[in-house]
Amino acid sequence: MCNYIPVELRKQVARVDRQRCCYCLTTTANTGTSMTHDHIHPRSKGGKTIFENICLACSACNTFKSDLTEAQDPITQQLVSLFHPRTQRWNEHFSWSADKAKIEGITPTGRATVVALRLNRPLIVLARQRWVQVGWHPPVD
Ligand SMILES: [Zn+2]
Repeated sequence: MCNYIPVELRKQVARVDRQRCCYCLTTTANTGTSMTHDHIHPRSKGGKTIFENICLACSACNTFKSDLTEAQDPITQQLVSLFHPRTQRWNEHFSWSADKAKIEGITPTGRATVVALRLNRPLIVLARQRWVQVGWHPPVD
């Protein structure tokens, strides 16, 4: 998909999101790959290309999110909204597992987002385990 994002908006998003995925918090510095721009409310559903609706996402999170805005909470089975990086705080919906390698949803939205975006993909969990060993993870803020 070809998403035109104005340069100034790209700079603003890069600055605010600090070169990391707004969903899994993976950084460009750890992976050596650039982030994509996610339309939080998908363009295909009328989402606009404005700061309030654009965030950085790694390509895996963006691919699995696709045009979803809701997913099922694995505990209650209810359909709930996915995490919204511009209106919600990551720490209020997610936490790290004891070994810091997995993301745990702590709200219905958090749990649904962990499942829908596959935030604990085996390869990223393996990478996080290695990053923890050298002090590159989890991000501090
Ligand atoms: Zn991600």
